Amino acid sequence: MKFDTVIIGGGLAGMTCGIRLAQAGQRCAIVSQGQSAIHFSSGSFDLLGQLPDGEPVLDPEAGIAELAGRWPSHPYAVIGTENCARYARQVPELLREAGIRVTGQAQHNHFRITPMGKSRATWLTIDGYLTTPQIGEFPFKRVCIVNIEGFLDFYPEFIAEELRKFGIECRFGNFNHPDLELIRRNPSEMRSANIARVFDHDADLEALAAELRRLAAGCDALILPALIGINRNDSLEFLKQRVGHPIYLLPTLPPSIPGIRAQQALQHRFRALGGEYFLGDCVLSAQTEQGRVRRVFTANHGDIPFEADHFVLATGSFFSKGLVATPDRIVEPVFEADVVSRPGRAEWYTLHFFDRHEYQAFGVRTDNRLRVIRQGAPLENLYCVGAGLAGFHPVQEGCGAGVSMLSALYAAESIARASDKPVAFD
Ligand SMILES: Cc1cc2nc3c(=O)[nH]c(=O)nc-3n(C[C@H](O)[C@H](O)[C@H](O)COP(=O)(O)OP(=O)(O)OC[C@H]3O[C@@H](n4cnc5c(N)ncnc54)[C@H](O)[C@@H]3O)c2cc1C
Repeated sequence: MKFDTVIIGGGLAGMTCGIRLAQAGQRCAIVSQGQSAIHFSSGSFDLLGQLPDGEPVLDPEAGIAELAGRWPSHPYAVIGTENCARYARQVPELLREAGIRVTGQAQHNHFRITPMGKSRATWLTIDGYLTTPQIGEFPFKRVCIVNIEGFLDFYPEFIAEELRKFGIECRFGNFNHPDLELIRRNPSEMRSANIARVFDHDADLEALAAELRRLAAGCDALILPALIGINRNDSLEFLKQRVGHPIYLLPTLPPSIPGIRAQQALQHRFRALGGEYFLGDCVLSAQTEQGRVRRVFTANHGDIPFEADHFVLATGSFFSKGLVATPDRIVEPVFEADVVSRPGRAEWYTLHFFDRHEYQAFGVRTDNRLRVIRQGAPLENLYCVGAGLAGFHPVQEGCGAGVSMLSALYAAESIARASDKPVAFD
């Protein structure tokens, strides 16, 4: 099989890169083994919430400029301040074209509310989720936090504890319905995706709306766990129209409904642009000649190779097995790329869970075009994008989605420029 570009890994980075290249007229394939981090995401996309030294960032664009000066090995520094700003302007449009409606600005973080009720700086949030312009500036004074009876991945008491610190009056409500009984028989089935499938039916949404109308009495707004809209776009609007009160969604513990929706929407967009998506397949090995990757081989296609002019390594970090830790070293399993890491395992982590662990910044070594370095030299047509890059701490710095999407756009632009189908990327 011959393509212009083969992308290995179909998470946020792989799909962003694939969409951009397909838009540029490339014949593009994504080979992806399985679920990605987006299935676990919050419904918000982070650009930069903190500098590496812990200083909070209010204006991510300005923060990236500062970071580029002081931490030159950070992916944003490699991509470059102006490029980052340009790509950050393109991302909301790319998401909206895929059907993911987001709000937010690269010059001003807003705050999303975590499943534990904490405020966290972020860049873009899917419409319908509870956000605040500043910490504590909630759009209500009295709120009812509603859960689905028996759903254990949402914690109204913790959320209320946080909201009450800002003077918000909180009440609780519970919803139950005979259609939920089937999944409730087995407590391990009471997961977000199964519940959300029940609420894809009009009759169940109507029943929920009726209960929410009752619970809304005396409240300015309602908060619901994100358990609606796995296969339809209109669920929240449907409820709001019938209830007549503002309703805000909060993310639950994984699996994440907004994440699953976003994954499906991006995959659909890539395919609609002519891309080929090989889900459930795994790239096992690669052949290189004279500093170029010629072909890769996958588990499902055996000795039938995937050939391309360019390849993109978007296999993520440890979470997705894009990086693997052996007892004494860190390995990138497909290309055996050079990896930025530390020699002694004892230096990889500390004993405190919430610390900034060294291993989180381990990743594939690249040149300033994000081309993968192997045995000290860049492979001419292999780019690394996303969570597998070295030099950043996605959680502490609050930059996971931003690094994935901006690096993907940077690599896509390089690839499109190097091909015979160049395209305007502004
Ligand atoms: C649990 C979790 C939650 C997160 N939540 C957020 C959030 O809410 N907001 C935010 O901004 N950031 C979040 N992040 C940070 C996250 O890293 C990025 O946002 C981003 O989603 C990472 O995307 P990626 O495509 O780079 O990697 P991944 O999402 O890890 O995707 C890599 C893909 O490559 C595939 N793959 C791996 N090896 C192979 C192979 N050999 N062949 C074929 N396919 C392969 C994997 O199956 C996977 O599908 C979260 C991270 C984690 C781990």
